[in-house]
Amino acid sequence: MEDEKREMHKVTCSDCGKETEVPFKPDGERPVYCRECFQKRRPRRDNFQRNDNY
Ligand SMILES: [Zn+2]
Repeated sequence: MEDEKREMHKVTCSDCGKETEVPFKPDGERPVYCRECFQKRRPRRDNFQRNDNY
């Protein structure tokens, strides 16, 4: 594995508007959150039902 270096991407949190960095590449479509907002928005349901056509 030569993907050792973690690329950090500067983004603006979609919730609080703070500048933050994420270790993944934002796809530009999904909102990106800083750590705090990410944790506070983290879904806490264990069994989530999908209603897609799956
Ligand atoms: Zn935030």
